[in-house]
Amino acid sequence: MLTIHRNRSKSFRLVAAVFCVILVGCAGRVGLAENHGGAESFGSRKILETLWTPDQLRGGDHDIARMTLDAPDLRPPERTEPLHELPPVPEALQKVIVAVEPEGGEKVAALTFDLCERAPHLAGYRFDLVNFLRENNISATFFAGGKWMRSHPDKTMQLMADPLFELGNHAWTHGNLALMNEEEIREQLLWTQAEYEILRERLAERAKLRGVSGEMRLVPESLRLMRLPYGRNEARTLPVIASLGLPVIGWSVEGESSGPHGGSGPEAIVRYDLRQARPGVIYLMHANAVPKTTQTVVRELVPLLQARGYRFVTVSELLRMGKPVKVEMGYFTTPGDNLFLDALFGGKGTLGRTDKVKY
Ligand SMILES: [Zn+2]
Repeated sequence: MLTIHRNRSKSFRLVAAVFCVILVGCAGRVGLAENHGGAESFGSRKILETLWTPDQLRGGDHDIARMTLDAPDLRPPERTEPLHELPPVPEALQKVIVAVEPEGGEKVAALTFDLCERAPHLAGYRFDLVNFLRENNISATFFAGGKWMRSHPDKTMQLMADPLFELGNHAWTHGNLALMNEEEIREQLLWTQAEYEILRERLAERAKLRGVSGEMRLVPESLRLMRLPYGRNEARTLPVIASLGLPVIGWSVEGESSGPHGGSGPEAIVRYDLRQARPGVIYLMHANAVPKTTQTVVRELVPLLQARGYRFVTVSELLRMGKPVKVEMGYFTTPGDNLFLDALFGGKGTLGRTDKVKY
């Protein structure tokens, strides 16, 4: 997802009078571990602590910096096809998964952070947000653009190696998949799968040099989930993604919004997020430069949810805990509320159709 600030207008904030979920079917408990090669682990603390010093892991203000490039970067990755082919997504996990109904109503929540990066930008990384999660042992899922991974290789390898975190696919250049043909959709997703593998190979080389290559068995070989840029798809989009083996993960709560009558500022957003909490909730947020209040919201929201009995899990863990709640089309808070973005981000999702957007 990418939250865009249009004329800094409040009208841009996507709010809804009613939080509406169109249920198109709930599947039974799904053998996700089977589909996902039995990957129960998301990384190795030993790799993380061997390859980086605490200071390197913590990062600093320079990591946040967002840049506009002189020209859009549309270069492909070094390798455009992933070496690992995933089995097609089982029917029970097809469509857009917006929440899970955990067995027994267990109070679990998935925090998800997108790392969006379109062709004309370098989007940065909120080191302070990630540090908060690490310091408090909070599991989370990051959906990273393939180009973002290439332009932030060290951060990608750190997230990849961290057993707290799961990484997912957020398309190559944040393409608007609803406006793409099959070949373009495959390119957006497969280039990203390939870039992950390239960086995993680099991580493996470094682990080998430091004598911890045995730990690489704990680092997933592939990205196993995806998130739609702008939450946009058409009916014809989903079978293409399913054929590539990537369940599509939406969200139940736009975690950076304060809702229809919520007011402004991080406090209002936290109040809204708390009101929307349900067992199996998936929160949408960002871990790069947009929007800037997210790390404040997360610092306040996490302990409040914990005080209400919630614990945090990755999306794959959540999917193993119960029935997925699914919709046919992605959206922010109400169906159709993201359609206007098609006018801003057409073509490969990188080029604006109006002169208001330079790229
Ligand atoms: Zn995004």
